[in-house]
Amino acid sequence: MRRILGLGLMLSITVIGQAAEVPAEVAAAATRQVSAQVLGWRRDIHQHPELGNRETRTAALVAAQLRALGLEVQTGIAKTGVTGLLKGALPGPRIAIRADMDALPVTEDNALPFASKVRTDFNGSTVGVMHACGHDAHTAMTLGVATALAAMRAELHGEVLFIFQPAEEGPPAGEPGGAELMLDEGLFDRFKPAAIFGMHVFYTLHAGQIGVREGPMLAGSDRFQITVQGRQTHGAQPWRGVDPIVTAALIVNQAQTIVSRQLNISELPAVLSFGMIHGGLRWNIIPDQVALEGTIRSFDPAMRQQVFDHLQAIAEHVAAAQGASVVTKIPLPEAVNPVTVNDPALTRRMRGSLERAVGADQVITITPNMVAEDFARFADQVPGMYFFVGSVPPTQALASAAANHSPLFMLDEAALDVGTRAMLQVALDALSGQALATPR
Ligand SMILES: [Zn+2]
Ligand SMILES: [Zn+2]
Repeated sequence: MRRILGLGLMLSITVIGQAAEVPAEVAAAATRQVSAQVLGWRRDIHQHPELGNRETRTAALVAAQLRALGLEVQTGIAKTGVTGLLKGALPGPRIAIRADMDALPVTEDNALPFASKVRTDFNGSTVGVMHACGHDAHTAMTLGVATALAAMRAELHGEVLFIFQPAEEGPPAGEPGGAELMLDEGLFDRFKPAAIFGMHVFYTLHAGQIGVREGPMLAGSDRFQITVQGRQTHGAQPWRGVDPIVTAALIVNQAQTIVSRQLNISELPAVLSFGMIHGGLRWNIIPDQVALEGTIRSFDPAMRQQVFDHLQAIAEHVAAAQGASVVTKIPLPEAVNPVTVNDPALTRRMRGSLERAVGADQVITITPNMVAEDFARFADQVPGMYFFVGSVPPTQALASAAANHSPLFMLDEAALDVGTRAMLQVALDALSGQALATPR
């Protein structure tokens, strides 16, 4: 084992560490102890879902439990966020575990005794509210992990910050929120973890299974705008103006060659889609302007930049060839969601913990997924590992399972124990091991 003193940092970082292995039976027994509580919390939160930045009841439930455990609790972070700091009796690394608390404007269609009947205002209309993405399960399981670890405090190494985040699905229009706001408010200035962990129940795996991959796991999403400026004229005399409609069509077509001809998609996938074209008021007038908008999904910062650069070049050169000009926002700065990257070294190390917790054959290496997650914001700042917890009953074919965000999204509650046990094992091994930065 080699130890290097951080230059000027009050840290010592063990570069080569033998991961300590806490016996799987410890996490399994602790999970059994909190299992009934986790189930109860999950059903309670499921029945009382709240939209992003409005998670007041959920936050109060979380804060009350964390206080009852004797953790140092802070509330009102990024509107409704809650953190609880657990300090073990023994020295060790600092880690963070993050759960999200918000529900979606979806009307539940499941016949469950604890199905949501909640309705609320959203963007001016009344909508049903449902934990259709399973954040009720994340909050309940993470409370279970906090409860289990608090009971081990006397033998516990290091410190754990439990982060209960609002508005993962995005804040309401016109409001800031989510992981970005938590960080803007100084979350990691107050407590900088050596590693952060998060999990998500997901419909592409069976209950009992865990899905994970090293490196890029969930897509980064970007929005772009291109405004094509031409010169208005009569539709009968196009030569007297500059046609932004034809120019926009050429840009849309040419942009299809970026992913198909310019990117090495044998390494990682990417997507570029136009979702909006607006231009023109009348059938016989060639207008001044056409506005284009779309989305880019990518997994690698260099590939992402390549898409931006090619799109910019195509927009400018195609427009120039037509005598038109463009104003671009590639990307729109306020709509950036980074790639969720699992730190390779951390993930290699913790994969063994996942395998011991649920069985090696139950840990699946998944392909990159085009959905985006704002856990990426935390994992941008410190090494992170994010994993999927399968939510589909083992007896059901995966192809027939309702996706997250569906009004029929259904969690096999057996997944609750699986996720709790997996996260507990990860936390215990990370805290006991020597490969993470240790505060002095
Ligand atoms: Zn979601
Ligand atoms: Zn989600």
